[in-house]
Amino acid sequence: MSVTLIPAWSDEEGTQRAAALWAATFGGRPDGVWAAPGRVNIIGEHVDYNGGPCLPVALPHRTFVAMTRRDDQQVRLVSDLAPHDVWSGALAQIAPGGVRGWVAYAGGPAWALAQAGHPVGGFDAAIVSCVPLGAGLSSSAAVECAVALALDETFGLGLGADDAGRRALADACIRTEAQVAGANTGGMDQSVSLRAQADHALLLDFRDGSAQQVPLDLTTSGLELLVIDTRAPHSLDDGQYAERRATCEQAAALLGVGTLREVTDLDAALAQLPDAVMRRRVRHVVTEIARVEVCTGLVRDGRLRDVGPLLDASHASLRTDYEVTCVELDVAVEAARSAGALGARMTGGGFGGSAIALVEAGTVPAVSLAVQEAFAVRGLAEPAFLLAHAGPGGARVPRRSDES
Ligand code: ADP
Ligand code: MG
Repeated sequence: MSVTLIPAWSDEEGTQRAAALWAATFGGRPDGVWAAPGRVNIIGEHVDYNGGPCLPVALPHRTFVAMTRRDDQQVRLVSDLAPHDVWSGALAQIAPGGVRGWVAYAGGPAWALAQAGHPVGGFDAAIVSCVPLGAGLSSSAAVECAVALALDETFGLGLGADDAGRRALADACIRTEAQVAGANTGGMDQSVSLRAQADHALLLDFRDGSAQQVPLDLTTSGLELLVIDTRAPHSLDDGQYAERRATCEQAAALLGVGTLREVTDLDAALAQLPDAVMRRRVRHVVTEIARVEVCTGLVRDGRLRDVGPLLDASHASLRTDYEVTCVELDVAVEAARSAGALGARMTGGGFGGSAIALVEAGTVPAVSLAVQEAFAVRGLAEPAFLLAHAGPGGARVPRRSDES
C-alpha cells in the first residue's frame, strides 16, 4: 500500500487548464493567465488578529485565473468548481450582499479594488485550481489573490510590481473575504499568497504589516514538510473563529493594551484576567508569539531539526489552551510523531483542515502511511497528503525565465 501525494500543477499545466475552461465557456483565448498559491503556516497560529507574527510558506499548489478585459461594465465568471454554471451580471452587483458562494471570492476583488480607488471595469474570468478546497490551505485566498493580480494587470493598476503594491492588493483581498464572502480572516493567507518568494518562509508581522523573507532550505537538511489534509469538514464561519477573536479583543481591553502582542509579562497579565477560559486563550497567544520568534531564529540559522519541538508545543497549546483542534488533527499529529516525525502540529484556523509534520525526507511514505492507517483504524475519512516546497507568490504565468 502506498500513499499518493497531491501534485502541484506547473505553469504550463495550470495555464492549459485555465485556457481549456476558457475556450469551452467563452470560446477563443484569454488575454492572459495569472496564478496565486495556497499557503501553509509553519508556526504562529491565531496570532495575526492579535498583532503578532507568523511564519507561513506559499505552497507550490496554485489557483490559475484566465482573464480578458471587456469594453462594458459586465462580468462573467466560471470556475472548475461548477464548470457549466457561468455567473454573469453587472460589475456593480459584485458587492457585499450582492453575490454569494464562490462568486464572492472570485468577483470580490473587483469591488474591493474599486472601493480603494482603483478603476476596474468589466471582465471575463475562468478559474481552475489544484489547491485542496476547504483544507485549511487557503484555497480562498488563492482565488482572491489570483483574481486581484489579473485585475491589476488587466486594468493597468501597477500594484503587482512591488511589495508595497502587493500589500495593497492583499488588503483588497482581505476586505473581499471579510466583507463580500463574509468570512473574517486575520490577513496571513492573502499576504503570503501575494508577498512570498520561492525557497523562503515569510515572516509576517501584523504589528506593522511588515514582511521579511526567511531562507528555508529543507533539502540541504534532508527534510520535508509533509502536509496532511485531514478531510475533516472545517468551517471557520460557524462562530468559533469569531468567538476566539472576540475573547482576545476583550482580554486586550481588560489589560489596557491595543492587542495581545503588547503583553510583555504573561503571569502578570493572567493574574489580571477574571475568566479561566480567557486566561487560557491569552496564554496560547502570548506563548505562540514567543514560539514564532524562537522558530524564526532557528530557521534563519539553518537549524531546521530543532524546529520540531516547537511544532509539538504549538499543537499542545492550540489543543488545550485555544481548543481549536479536533479528533482528526490530534490523530494526524500523534500518528506522524509515532512514525518518526521530528515535530507536528495543526496548521491554519483549526476545527479540521490540515496538519503539518516535519519529517526526514526518506520517511515521507512511511509517515503518510502511518497517518492513513491511524485514520482507518478510527473509522475516519481517508486523509490526503502533499509536500510544502516553498513556492513563489502570485504572478502572471508562464513566468519569463529572467523572473524569480
Ligand atoms: P480554504 O481557504 O481553507 O480552502 P475556505 O472555506 O476559506 O477554505 O474557502 C473555500 C471557498 O473558496 C470555496 O467554498 C469557494 O467559495 C472558494 N474557492 C476555492 N477554490 C475555488 C475555485 N477553484 N473556484 C472558485 N472558488 C473557489
Ligand atoms: Mg480560506
